[in-house]
Amino acid sequence: MKKVLYIVVPCYNEEDMIKITTEELTKKLESLIKEKKISNKSKIMYINDGSKDNTWNLIKEINKNNKYVTGISLSRNRGHQNALLAGLIISKNNADIIISMDADLQDDIHAIDQMIDKYNNENCEIVYGVRNKRKTDTWFKRITAQNFYKFMKIMGVETIYNHADFRLTSKRVIEHLENYEEVNLFLRGIFPLIGFKSSIVYYERKERIKGESKYPLKKMIAFALDGITSFSIKPIRLILALGVLIFITSIIILLYCLIAKLTGNVVDGWTFIVGSIWLVAGIQMFSIGIVGEYIGKIYSETKKRPRYIIEENLEEK
Ligand code: UDP
Ligand code: MG
Repeated sequence: MKKVLYIVVPCYNEEDMIKITTEELTKKLESLIKEKKISNKSKIMYINDGSKDNTWNLIKEINKNNKYVTGISLSRNRGHQNALLAGLIISKNNADIIISMDADLQDDIHAIDQMIDKYNNENCEIVYGVRNKRKTDTWFKRITAQNFYKFMKIMGVETIYNHADFRLTSKRVIEHLENYEEVNLFLRGIFPLIGFKSSIVYYERKERIKGESKYPLKKMIAFALDGITSFSIKPIRLILALGVLIFITSIIILLYCLIAKLTGNVVDGWTFIVGSIWLVAGIQMFSIGIVGEYIGKIYSETKKRPRYIIEENLEEK
């Protein structure tokens, strides 16, 4: 039996793109069906993320005369990550393989063939689409995005370098994704945690054909902060480290103050004031760090993430 593929596409104010994207993706599905790589029940699933333009009407219209197109509409704008999650979870009911991509065709749809091959022939359950160049991005987007991945790494978040949300996953992976119950979603950080055999397909990212980016700087910063604070307690550890550092410095300063006092020429009370400032600041920072450690624990516990995922169980065979 051929596997059913669903291509999940979140859309926010994409009225300019829907027709072109549908045309391209329909061609892709038809050619994959013809090559007998996927089932003819495969579909494109649009998720209308509370668009304020004509996006949803267009999707409904296309759904009537294109058997490959289906869609869901969210009650309001919930952001790219939540829209994507909704699409993944709903499409897994009918699909065996799910590919997520943006509506603007920036991701190379020809990479889909390679992704499917990796799934069909190499049993990969997650295939990450990775940009090999960024020459079509503006220099600003390029620099911010590249530093984003570096910063995430320093902050202790495991992500795939230059991978956004263009990826193939098996139905099983999405079933496990549902057990990650966090509200602040950063999908590209979760998939590496799920595990299973994975692989990478490289592609060149193109320019947006129509419409404008829905990720202005403000949203990008919020996204990066979400990524870090949802995956890492390293910032808390940094406070603790800083506390220890200031505490040690305070001892050195205290020694210096004492020596200065003993050798004479200081104003009355200076030793006491300078010494206490450093000592108290150090103790405070250190204490905040300790409290932070506990908050960090609470934070990981409240996520209720699965503690393990079984890939194979011989009992069931
Ligand atoms: N998107 C969404 N909800 C939002 C913002 C964006 O569903 O609140 C969709 C958007 O329609 C597109 C994808 O997420 O399909 C990526 O957005 P965009 O191309 O604007 O981001 P960029 O490529 O500039 O990072
Ligand atoms: Mg885009």
